[in-house]
Amino acid sequence: MELWFTEKHTEHVKLSIEVDKQLYSTQSDFQRIDIFESPEFGRFLTLDGYMMLTEKDEFIYHEMMVHVPMAVHPHVKNVLVIGGGDGGTVRELVRYDSIENIDLVEIDEEVVKACIEYLPQTACGFQDKRVHTYFEDGLKYIRKFVDTYDLILVDSTDPFGPGEGLFTKEFYGNCYKALKADGIMVNQHESPFYKEDAYAMQRAHKRIVESFPISKVYQMHIPTYPSGHWLFGFASKKYHPLDDQRVEEWKALGLKTRYYNEQLHKGAFALPNYVEEMLEHVE
Ligand code: SAM
Repeated sequence: MELWFTEKHTEHVKLSIEVDKQLYSTQSDFQRIDIFESPEFGRFLTLDGYMMLTEKDEFIYHEMMVHVPMAVHPHVKNVLVIGGGDGGTVRELVRYDSIENIDLVEIDEEVVKACIEYLPQTACGFQDKRVHTYFEDGLKYIRKFVDTYDLILVDSTDPFGPGEGLFTKEFYGNCYKALKADGIMVNQHESPFYKEDAYAMQRAHKRIVESFPISKVYQMHIPTYPSGHWLFGFASKKYHPLDDQRVEEWKALGLKTRYYNEQLHKGAFALPNYVEEMLEHVE
């Protein structure tokens, strides 16, 4: 008997992954959480049927979310992660000895519990003493802070369901306020390829451009996300992602990465013309 997980990427496109077995399934107060075991991608987490991460390709997402801003900002000490309950972003952050504090604000405690039990590859960073986890809505949490964080990483689900508020103008404005004078925000910026994702991407970009003086977009390849072509936003009060890239300082840290490197850092900001046009249209 064959067992397959299928996610609809558009009305006319589906991605299917063969599954060995389902390891976990629950309906939390916020969403349906499932974890599967698969021959090609290892274990993978879905929320409300949408792919969040697989053991095989999560390194791309988490390395690009963390190492790009860390190779730019010269002294990150206080970090806020919003969402990111699988722990992959935290895992990459705790590799930096210079970081003193990491606050992770995840709306759904059940995601963290399930990942600690079934996805130790990503959840391993939660044990670090510098990590403090708060189970709250990130939209509400961020309202309380002014001039506090060096780096905010918005590791959210898509802009519907619990993640909807994390794509609003109010949220980005409050992230700006919560950042120090040289702070950086990196956010999950959706995909330019399929129409609905591209619309969400443009809407998010417009709101970030309205909130931050420097707002750039960079790209990566994530095989299990719709179209495989994914974007992150780099929004900043002071540092430019390329002009202020600290190539030698970052290399001197000796961090071993599987996707990120200093050349790729530069290349990731070189976008295809059709994506540049979409961004310019809302800038
Ligand atoms: N890499 C993933 C992706 O883009 O598919 C995101 C991974 S992470 C699992 C996303 C997390 O954001 C989820 O665990 C979800 O519960 C959390 N989340 C969604 N809305 C949130 C909110 N308003 N506040 C805090 N966390 C939220």
